[in-house]
Parts: sequence; C-alpha cells; structure tokens
Amino acid sequence: MWITLALVTIVGLAVGFLVLWRRWRWEQADWERARERWLATEQQLRAEIERDRAGLAAIFDRMIEGLLILGPDRRVQWANLPLQRLFQITSDVRGRTLMETLQRHELETLAERARQDGQAPGLELELPGQPSRFLQVNASIIGRPGEPNPGVILVFHEVTRLKELEATRREFVANVSHELRTPLSLIKGFVETLIDGARHDPEVSLRFLQTIEKHSNRLTFLIEDLLTISQLESGAVVLNCQSGELKPLVDKVLEDLSARAAAREIRLNNAIPQGLIAHADFDRLQQVFFNLVDNAIKYGRTGGQVILGGEPIPGKGGPGVALWVKDDGPGIPKESLDRIFERFYRVDAARSREQGGTGLGLSIVKHIVQAHGGEVRADSEVGAGAIFRVTLPAATVRGRNRGVDA
Ligand code: ADP
Repeated sequence: MWITLALVTIVGLAVGFLVLWRRWRWEQADWERARERWLATEQQLRAEIERDRAGLAAIFDRMIEGLLILGPDRRVQWANLPLQRLFQITSDVRGRTLMETLQRHELETLAERARQDGQAPGLELELPGQPSRFLQVNASIIGRPGEPNPGVILVFHEVTRLKELEATRREFVANVSHELRTPLSLIKGFVETLIDGARHDPEVSLRFLQTIEKHSNRLTFLIEDLLTISQLESGAVVLNCQSGELKPLVDKVLEDLSARAAAREIRLNNAIPQGLIAHADFDRLQQVFFNLVDNAIKYGRTGGQVILGGEPIPGKGGPGVALWVKDDGPGIPKESLDRIFERFYRVDAARSREQGGTGLGLSIVKHIVQAHGGEVRADSEVGAGAIFRVTLPAATVRGRNRGVDA
C-alpha cells in the first residue's frame, strides 16, 4: 500500500516535473523568439534613425545657409558644411561651446536672447579676411517657448552680394544726382542772370542762351544714355540679330560723325574689308561704333586720324568677327584701362564734360557687346593713341538679352 502510494507520488511528481519542464521550454522558446524579434526591431529602428540622420545631414550640408545647432547643455550638436566653410572649421566641433567654436561674443548674446525670447532678430556679422564678407545671423529656439534650457538653432545667411549691390545702387544714385545737378544749376544761374537784366544786352543774352542750350543738350544726352543703360541692365532688351555686311554700317556711322571729325580736322578711315559679315543686332552695333568713334574724335589728336578695321576670327559655332577702332590721340593711362568701362568713370572728368560726355558711352558699348556674347577691351600707351577691340561670336543670341555684368 505504502509502496503503491510512493510510486503514485513519484510518478505524479515526474509527470508534474515533465509538464513544468516542457512549459518552461516553451516559454523559453517564446522568450527567445520575442528577444530575437525585439533585437530585429531595434536594429531596424537604429538603421532607420541612422538613415534619417544621414538624410538630414545631407539636406543640411546641401543648404546654402550655414547652420549651427546648440543642445540644451549649450554645446554644439551640429554644424553643417556651409558653416564650416564660412568659418574655416576643419575639426569636429560637436560638444564644444559656441564661443569655443566661432569665437564671436555677439553670437553668444544672440543665442542667449533667443533662449529668453524664443527668437532673436537678424544680427549682421563681418567675417575677417579680404575681401570682407558679411553674414546675417538669425537665432531661434528648438521646442516650445518657456521650456527650461531649450536648444538653439542659428542660421547664417551670406549677404555680401546684397551689400555690394546696395552700395552700387547708392553710388549710382549719387553719381546720377551729381551729373544732373551740375548742368541744372548752370542753367538756373544763367536764367537768373538773364531775368536780372542781362536779357537787355542782345549779345550777352545770345551767349547765355547758347550756353543754356549746350547744358540742356547735355541733360538730354545724359537722360537718353541712362535710359539705354537701364534698359540693357534690366535684361529687357530684345536683340534683333541678323547677318549683314559691316562696311556699309561703319560708312553710315562715319557720315553721321563727319561734321564733328571735321571740326577737329580728324580723318576718318573705314578699313573694314568688303564682304566682312557679322551676325548681330545692327541698330545696337551702330551705337557701339558711334560711341567708339565719337570718343576717338573727342579724345583723339586734333589733325589726327581714326581707323576702323576688322577681320573674321575662328570660333566654336563658326567664324566670328574682330573689329577695332584706333586713334592716334594722347591714349589712356594703364591704370584706367579696365575702369573706363565702368559707369561714370572718366580719365579727365572736366575734359569729358566739356566735350558733352556723359561718362556712360563705354558702359553702353560693353553692355551691348556682352549681350551679343562678345567682348570688348581697350589697349593704349600714353602718347601712342588708344585702340578698342570688339569681338563678336558667330552664333549670337537671338531674342532676349543675355545677363550682363553691371
Ligand atoms: P564720356 O562720355 O566721358 O566720353 P565714355 O564712357 O565714353 O564716357 O568714356 C569714359 C572715359 O574713357 C572718357 O571720359 C575718357 O576719359 C576715356 N576715353 C574713352 N575713349 C578714349 C579714347 N579714344 N582716348 C582717350 N581716352 C578715352
């Protein structure tokens, strides 16, 4: 009886143990499977985070603006490539403070303002080096306002070109005002003198009226040139290009200028070969020749000679043309050669004004030539005359004007 009981108990225990053991194995296998699943999910998540991070890094690095992210501990979490280039950073700056990274107190103050107010308005920063570069920096917090120790994002936007354009615009307005004021105040002065009594002397009044006419002509030329320049610079000029012979065009320009040349006893010589063809807007090209020959007469030698020449030149889209206008006047100083194409630049301002010059003629020439995809340059030695060379490619742009340098 006892033996049977013992056997039953043992068998019972064995069965129980077996059941428990199998259950434990099942659970262990379940556990193992769950662990594997969890590990796989974790790996997948890590890979996704890494991909997102790499994607974000690629986006940030491709931005034009510099970007710097400060964590809640006020240390750099991220600095994109453009920022590293702007500040010539070559090492890993993650974990450093803003001051250690960029060494600019103003930026510390800007980041602090952003932490307090949520965002800080643009700060202008000049980068050291030549030429100077300017940045506009904006800062804002990452997260909601009022959160303790928020992260801060600083965005650096380069505004050098904008500042240059702004300076050019200011300079242009100042130049135009100056150019307009001079003849206007002269006209006003002569009119006042006439009103005050000079009109009673016919000889004096004729002289004064002639001077008034001269200065009002100057104003007209200036306004015409300004309109042409602004049209050319706006890119709104439509070139009406066609192939045509150059020699007859130059003949026409020389005829228009013959009286001025005769007044200074200057011989005009059209040495452009017969049959030389250009593909261009001939009205615009006529203005190029007019301005160059007019200058050669104005600044050339009394009793001298102006020669116009040309030849075909090889080019990618077929032969282009090289054209030149040469005088035997006093020439242009070396240091002015590159500058004479700038608006209002004159070697001798008094002489230019005396000759009725606006200071815009060569700038117009440059714009027209560039709109055709060509180039213009001046060569000269003081005392040995000046030569202006224009090259025009065969395949010029039809339709809208190309972008040209200011
Ligand atoms: P401007 O109306 O004063 O003639 P331009 O733009 O046509 O203006 O020329 C700019 C300056 O370049 C002139 O003021 C003059 O000093 C110089 N220049 C142009 N052409 C000649 C030339 N053939 N010989 C000497 N100087 C020249």
